Amino acid sequence: MKRFNAFCILILLLCSSHSYAESLLAVNKDQSIDLSSWLYYVQDPHIDTLAQVSSLSSSQWQHLTPQFNDHLNVAPFWIKFSLYNATDSKIRRFLSLANPHIDKISLYHLQQDNTQVHIEMGDSYPFSQRPIPHNSFLYRFDLQPEQVHTFYLRIETSGSANIPLSLLSPDHIVEVTERQSLTQGFQLGALMAIGLFSLFIAITSRSYSYSYYSGYVLSVSLLVATLHGLSFRYLWPDWPIVHQIVLPLLIPIALTFVLMFSEKVLQLKYHNLAMLRLCRYCAATAFFLILVTPFLSYSVALKLNIIAVLITTSMLMVIAITLSIRGHKLAKLYTLAWSGMLIGSFVTAMMYLGVLYLPILHQTPIMLGLSFEIVFMAAVLAIRYNDERKAKLQIQQEALQQAQRIRETREEALKIEADSNEKLEQMVQERTLELEIALRELNEANQKLTEQNTVDSLTGVKNRAAFDKRLLAEGRLSRRQQTPLAILMIDIDRFKGINDTFGHLAGDQALRLIAQALKEKLRRPSDLVSRFGGEEFAMILPNTAEEGAYQVAELMRETVFQLPLSWEKNAIPLTISVGICADIINDDEHIHSLVERADKALYRAKNDGRNRVCVYTSELEE
Ligand code: GH3
Ligand code: MG
Ligand code: MG
Repeated sequence: MKRFNAFCILILLLCSSHSYAESLLAVNKDQSIDLSSWLYYVQDPHIDTLAQVSSLSSSQWQHLTPQFNDHLNVAPFWIKFSLYNATDSKIRRFLSLANPHIDKISLYHLQQDNTQVHIEMGDSYPFSQRPIPHNSFLYRFDLQPEQVHTFYLRIETSGSANIPLSLLSPDHIVEVTERQSLTQGFQLGALMAIGLFSLFIAITSRSYSYSYYSGYVLSVSLLVATLHGLSFRYLWPDWPIVHQIVLPLLIPIALTFVLMFSEKVLQLKYHNLAMLRLCRYCAATAFFLILVTPFLSYSVALKLNIIAVLITTSMLMVIAITLSIRGHKLAKLYTLAWSGMLIGSFVTAMMYLGVLYLPILHQTPIMLGLSFEIVFMAAVLAIRYNDERKAKLQIQQEALQQAQRIRETREEALKIEADSNEKLEQMVQERTLELEIALRELNEANQKLTEQNTVDSLTGVKNRAAFDKRLLAEGRLSRRQQTPLAILMIDIDRFKGINDTFGHLAGDQALRLIAQALKEKLRRPSDLVSRFGGEEFAMILPNTAEEGAYQVAELMRETVFQLPLSWEKNAIPLTISVGICADIINDDEHIHSLVERADKALYRAKNDGRNRVCVYTSELEE
């Protein structure tokens, strides 16, 4: 019966307004119903109230096509749809509007019994104002059997006016919410993890590429959270104004970071300066966009952002492809990663601009592309980081090897130097030794020579020069010590006769014999006998007085007298006469006079008959 009644109402409704183009949605046991094909809209700036909109004739309502509102900055408009419970029991349903960025939604729920509910929702109100705390806008209602419910929604938004309306059962909404939370949580979790990981690497390694990348990923994470309506819900639920600014602000922030990051990861500085400049100009423009965004209207800022995203993604793609063709290893991977982002953002932008229609949420393609790009880019960055690390390691190793080589060379040089030093030292030592030997020999030779110079060659006793030198020295010693110095002048008697009788050779032999005898008889080491000249000898007896000198002279005379000189079987008698003078020396003059006096005494000995000793007395002066 009830079923029949409902059918009648439906027929009645359909018939009562033949021009009524609207359809009535029969709600059955379906868990989820997409309302997109059941929506009607009217856009008139003069219609502000429910009274005005409900009095409109059905011909004024138009079927809502995606082309109408699938773009930015749509003027406020009204949506209408009617539901009918096609079952015979009460049905509880949730009206879900899965675009968390609608500024204002005025919802009017009209029931058949004329009860009327009015709710204001939207992200321009604090989050707490929502009838059900959910990222999407939800409204719960009950449909009694055979009842017709009409909904009027006034939509006012400066961003995307896309209205993904659906009718969900309580069970289904739990499932949908769970699935949505899981996917969103997974996506955000992955992004945050990569972002924070990169941030920590950036902080610890002071890598620019990682800092830009972490800036990019973290700003994208916030962007994604905002797009899902999560940041509004959890970060600034009481500040709808923040929500209006954040989205158009985050896009240029992310762009600035991605441009700087791309410049680093593609190593444009080393590969292409024109591309580097282009990248930097774009980054500067994106930065400028960040600064001006707060002063622009939401829709203008968003449009600028979309254009900036399209230009940036395309430009980076072109750069990456160009470098890939040139054989840049990282650029190939970058291209692959970036193509995900490009395709995603391109599809989303096309959907927002109303060029493309797909039966998915507008942000889904960009979300997928973005997630792919970020995950893949993390791999690219890791590869680059590893490459850089390897290169650094290699450079370090090379430097180490070079240092080792230098050290070895230095050590070798030092060794060679030490060796040569040792050799040199040895050589010097050898030479020094040789020199010392030579010097010693020379010295000895010199000594010998000096000695030879002081020796009379014929007789082997000291010569006249040695006598003179010694006389002076002993004279001075006598004066200093006040000791007497005795001089003996010895002359061979009638020597001319030996020469004449037996020849000069016999004379020489006699001279030698007498000289040796005189030398042998001297006992004191300080005593000296010398050949004074011809067949004359002189003796110096230091520290010897007259008496002592006389004894020595007598000994000499006696010795010579005893000498046997046989020459050609002839015995040649030999005698000497000796003159003595002994005194303590006063001065150098006295030394010479001592010799003269001794000579005078000798002269007296000769006169007195030879073979005798005569001591000088002052009488000899007369
Ligand atoms: P006297 O002294 O006893 O008065 O007689 P004398 O014959 O020794 O006197 P005189 O002084 O005149 O003679 C010295 C001689 O000694 C002259 C020279 O022929 C000789 N005579 C000097 N020197 C040497 C020498 O070196 N060898 C030889 N064979 N004869 C020498
Ligand atoms: Mg003489
Ligand atoms: Mg003589």
